[in-house]
Amino acid sequence: MNRIGPLLIVEGANNSKVPYSRSLYIDCKDKVLIDSGGDPDALLEVNRQYGVELIVNTHYHPDHTRHNHLFRDAAKWINQIEFEKAQTIEGIARLNGVYQEWGPEGVEMWRKNLPQDWVENLGGYSKSYEYEKEYSFGGVKVSFLHTPGHTSGLSCPYFPELGVVYVGDYDMTSFGPWYNGTDGSIDDFIESGNRLISLDADTFITGHQKGVFSKLDFQQAMESFLAIIQERDETIEQYVREGLTFEELTNVGIFYPKQTLDVPLLKTWERSGIRKHLYRLGLTIPESSTVFGMAK
Ligand SMILES: [Zn+2]
Repeated sequence: MNRIGPLLIVEGANNSKVPYSRSLYIDCKDKVLIDSGGDPDALLEVNRQYGVELIVNTHYHPDHTRHNHLFRDAAKWINQIEFEKAQTIEGIARLNGVYQEWGPEGVEMWRKNLPQDWVENLGGYSKSYEYEKEYSFGGVKVSFLHTPGHTSGLSCPYFPELGVVYVGDYDMTSFGPWYNGTDGSIDDFIESGNRLISLDADTFITGHQKGVFSKLDFQQAMESFLAIIQERDETIEQYVREGLTFEELTNVGIFYPKQTLDVPLLKTWERSGIRKHLYRLGLTIPESSTVFGMAK
């Protein structure tokens, strides 16, 4: 486990790749864990050695909240935007685009396949925290910056006195920015990314994969990370010019590899992500190639 002053970095399985993530523990008298996607044995070890009395979640996604249920007695906080809507299966189905893409039947099917642990995590929040306000946990100061885009409520915990920021899903992976839920926004994503690189911090800790970046490395990585948005725009625009329908476009593999698009949730996000780009590009295309009831 890496330590930066009072902060312990708890890695998740598989290099903290989705559906796992990196957790942060503030070793102080308030015993605070930030996100619970880290390795469960390591998290329980932290609990044994130091104790966990409060879990603060940066946002509601399961890869960041997945082990909340291991800490039954800990208080759990989430950001104020997601406090209400992330407490029910129906709410999460809407945020994930399941309702938008497949309607109530899709939601029912999705509901049946949810892991029980995950459902248990949903209703567990006792409180929401405020954005941009300085909290002090055992003397460690932290502000939860409002950094929408990935979700509308995502916060990035910023420790001004330590020069550290946990940038969560600004993860600099080759996958690129993820804003595919109905609560995601491409424009907000870019704006928040630009805000993060201008922060007065030396250490940027991502939620997934590579992990710890210096300011310069993070700034450079952000440039190529955000450039992926532009590449997606160009690819989509090209396919539209070739005359692809929405159905055809969502089988190409713009976000996810083509061979994974038979996974219902990935297909859902592929569709909702493409819709966002089409909207941004001002393009409208037919849903499918059925014209006057005949297949083209
Ligand atoms: Zn997320």
